[in-house]
Amino acid sequence: MQVRFVGCGDAFGSGGRFNTCFHVSSENVNFLIDCGASSLPALKQQDIARDDIDLVLITHFHGDHFAGLPFLLLDAQFTRRTRPLVIAGPDGIETRLTQAMEVMFEHSSKTEQRFDLSVVVLKPDETRAFGAVNVTPFPVVHGASGGPFLAYRIEAEGRVVAYSADTEWTETLIPAARDADLFIAEAYYYDRIVKNHLSLKTLEAHLPEIKPKRLILTHMSDDMLARLDRLGYMAASDGMVVEL
Ligand SMILES: [Zn+2]
Ligand SMILES: [Zn+2]
Repeated sequence: MQVRFVGCGDAFGSGGRFNTCFHVSSENVNFLIDCGASSLPALKQQDIARDDIDLVLITHFHGDHFAGLPFLLLDAQFTRRTRPLVIAGPDGIETRLTQAMEVMFEHSSKTEQRFDLSVVVLKPDETRAFGAVNVTPFPVVHGASGGPFLAYRIEAEGRVVAYSADTEWTETLIPAARDADLFIAEAYYYDRIVKNHLSLKTLEAHLPEIKPKRLILTHMSDDMLARLDRLGYMAASDGMVVEL
């Protein structure tokens, strides 16, 4: 199974990085985790066949994780996609998606697609199967607007990929990522404690409880990007691929 960091940036384009979008693929699975505003250009830049993607998992409704969907859907329509597509995310996703489409491309939410589009609500702690992909959402803590906020524990082909999403430290990250083959964790700041985001030093203090087999840091601010060569942890970069 391959995990590609199509985009690992924050909402401000820190370091010139694309917004959050991870592509997970193998013989039997093909899905995205998040689809930020700049994710369609990033997918095209990295030659990723959008037609092969069966599922998009959305962690929350901030534009750097969600606002790429109207572009992705318009592109699918104009390139005559026929393969069904499932978009799954927190409660409210149907309304949010319609709103985003209408704000960005008026009337686009009413266009009848040539492909089967399903929008699915994921509830915390309820595992859902999408083909060979099992997804368990965990509630995380990321402020008063743009939620609900979900971290994901995703199991496919006997591998576990966990993604913290954007969150301050919360105990739910332990079951979400425990013993995962890959834990993709936000590390917004190095040691500064702020509300709604995770710092590397806070995460580090909890790693003995989480024990991920592999940890890759993402969604880094300029504060973290300036320290990339001396973090002591693997950090994501746009286009980076890991094999699991
Ligand atoms: Zn974000
Ligand atoms: Zn966010």
